[in-house]
Amino acid sequence: MRSGELTDQTVVITGGAGFIGSHLATALDSASGVRILDDLTTGQRENIPDEAILFEGDLRDEDTLVQATDEIDIIFHEAALVSVQQSIETPLTSHEINVDGTLSLLEVARKQDARIVLASSAAIYGHPIHVPITEVHSKNPTSPYGLDKLTIDHYARLYHDLYDLETIALRYFNVYGPGQVAGDYSGVISVFIDQALSGEDITVHGDGDQTRDFVFIDDVVQANRKAATTDAVGEVYNIGTGESITIRELAELIQDITDTNSDIVHTEARTGDIDHSEADISKAKEHLDYEPSVSIREGLEQTIEWYRIHKE
Ligand code: NAD
Repeated sequence: MRSGELTDQTVVITGGAGFIGSHLATALDSASGVRILDDLTTGQRENIPDEAILFEGDLRDEDTLVQATDEIDIIFHEAALVSVQQSIETPLTSHEINVDGTLSLLEVARKQDARIVLASSAAIYGHPIHVPITEVHSKNPTSPYGLDKLTIDHYARLYHDLYDLETIALRYFNVYGPGQVAGDYSGVISVFIDQALSGEDITVHGDGDQTRDFVFIDDVVQANRKAATTDAVGEVYNIGTGESITIRELAELIQDITDTNSDIVHTEARTGDIDHSEADISKAKEHLDYEPSVSIREGLEQTIEWYRIHKE
């Protein structure tokens, strides 16, 4: 087993200029030699910590990949075409980036006997049949993005079983925190905060009884760090908080923390919205020693503080 810290390791973070990857890059000890492979499609140069080295380019470009991954010990794979909507419009591109790109990385890891920690997603479950969702819950992704993630999640396990590679797939639920731009996952938080800070009505689609498991970025970083050192490899883990709140409660919390005069109003329900989502995180707790540490209120306070500074 590797030591608990990553100080002696050479680390590559794909997608390290993005929301999750840049928080991870900042959290890792600079002595571990963090490299970032990112084409800056959705990521931003200013997200990258000073000590990290950027290899700017597409994951699918062999030269970039070879340069960025020369003599590495650990790969954190965060890069992806992350937009569900875009994956529906361009499934082939989605597959090329999300599946073929990941397969190339797995091959790199195989050649170098490097550990690889992959970002999978709760999107693989589709509309849950029951909550909380365990890792063995049925998988019925409703988008090419979700299917791509399910495919790489399987590949991770297969590379462990076939080649004894140290792979781990982390199935993130709805990650949120400072630095996140509105997107498919926690867009609702960004939208509500924007509305609350500008004094507009906070718009809840439908009755607001839909539930989500929002997990703060620091806890996702914690899960990645623990995945980098665990013995329990060749496994998949749900990464959420194990608790969920309704969208209505979320709106009320944001209303309260921002101390806004905004009202909460209800608009038409969105078709295809998942009703309920909540991770069962017992497996990550048991094998990764993962323990979510940031409550939704604390996490929102930090996120709102960031928005006040950066978006006003
Ligand atoms: P993000 O868009 O902020 O980060 C993705 C990064 O990948 C960006 O910096 C982008 O420039 C880079 N990238 C995209 N295509 C690339 C390519 N072909 N080559 C090189 N770099 C490329 O998204 P995020 O929220 O930080 O998501 C990180 C990972 O976590 C993704 O794999 C995403 O699918 C997964 N995920 C995120 C959430 C969430 O709630 N944010 C939930 C589940 C899974």
